[in-house]
Amino acid sequence: MSASLTTTFDDKNSETSTLTSPTLVLNCGSSSIKYALISDDNSTRITGLAENLGLDTARIKHTTLNGEKLEISIPGGRHKLALQKILELLEQYHFIAVGHRVVHGGREYSKAVRVDEHALEEVKRLKILAPLHNPANALGIEAVQAIYPDMPQVVVFDTAFHQTMPPVAFRYALPKYLYEEHKIRRYGFHGTSHAYVSERTSQITEAKGPHGWLTAHLGNGCSAAAVYDGKSLDTSMGLTPLEGLMMGTRSGDVDPSLHMHLKRQLGMSLEETDKMLNNDSGLLGISGLSNDLRTIEQAASEGHEDAQLAIEMFCYRAGKYLASLSCALPEFTGIVFTGGIGENSDITRNKILAVMRHFGIKIDADKNASLVRGKEGSFHADDSSIELWVVPTDEECRIAQETRQALNLI
Ligand code: ADP
Repeated sequence: MSASLTTTFDDKNSETSTLTSPTLVLNCGSSSIKYALISDDNSTRITGLAENLGLDTARIKHTTLNGEKLEISIPGGRHKLALQKILELLEQYHFIAVGHRVVHGGREYSKAVRVDEHALEEVKRLKILAPLHNPANALGIEAVQAIYPDMPQVVVFDTAFHQTMPPVAFRYALPKYLYEEHKIRRYGFHGTSHAYVSERTSQITEAKGPHGWLTAHLGNGCSAAAVYDGKSLDTSMGLTPLEGLMMGTRSGDVDPSLHMHLKRQLGMSLEETDKMLNNDSGLLGISGLSNDLRTIEQAASEGHEDAQLAIEMFCYRAGKYLASLSCALPEFTGIVFTGGIGENSDITRNKILAVMRHFGIKIDADKNASLVRGKEGSFHADDSSIELWVVPTDEECRIAQETRQALNLI
């Protein structure tokens, strides 16, 4: 396929649109596939989601180039069938490469790489570190290979951006052989998001570099990172995405003896405790209502005490973590909020920053309240000790960019 194809597409309802040399970005989860077809200048995209894979309700929700929404039922369909349908929907745009979001790249990968036999084997082997995610990522790669054997594919690892962490940040205080022989260390996740928002903020700030940012990715999964001069120096997630901040359904940090205690006291198995920490904890566990902050904010405003506590805990723990991560930065330029919560909830941003009250941070309340989803901007007052930013994350854009870089297309 040519490296600079322009496809012209006459949508049946609308004007002619173009997508130049698009890259297909795939994020294959255990029961869903998110996809985005992105033009080479990142200005145009087609997006979609295959969900409920393996169930009777399996379906693809597709948004065309001109914004038309389609829904395609694929009852019982799994990854392979869903990808076949997705590729059928997209083949008219002649995409030139596929970039896969892969959760775990272990110690081996510090940047995106082109898929070959070895890389695919590594993605599969690293399921020891990400049992729910890496196998689904590998299925996606193989499904594309089966349909387009010559299509260049790239794997972009969620862990890669954090490979610049120094040992003082990435080692656990455990016996050395566990690190050397079994790779037990902190890896960090959400790497493409932390990379994207820190780079973007460095482009739009007027502060002179090198910049030291704390990036707070607050969505269903939540993590924070300390990024100096474009390099991750520490982050809140660890060996798995469970460590660190309180999240939608994940607990974040707990006492490492909790598993033992629950086994002794309640007879809970390791698997039961693991499931509870991942699926039944966080905002959901504390509020008893939902993992969705909007529902919790509504209930809190109506006096629901557990919802109020969930918000206070979420913000206290995030503020405490950000304060501690500031120790990793040689210079502290500012904090960047992103993710569904970070981008939308000015109340949460306010409360988190109030926890960091010894830092001399001053908020411009009007600017803070005016930043709604999709909008980037600063909200620090003129006399604030550090800058405050909201920058909507765009992991797909970053994955497309890293894919093109790995293939020497830019
Ligand atoms: P994911 O991590 O699955 O990509 P998102 O980044 O979309 O998730 O974030 C989801 C979270 O963002 C949910 O807790 C949701 O309640 C929250 N959120 C989205 N919009 C708002 C809003 N307007 N106000 C408060 N929270 C919001």
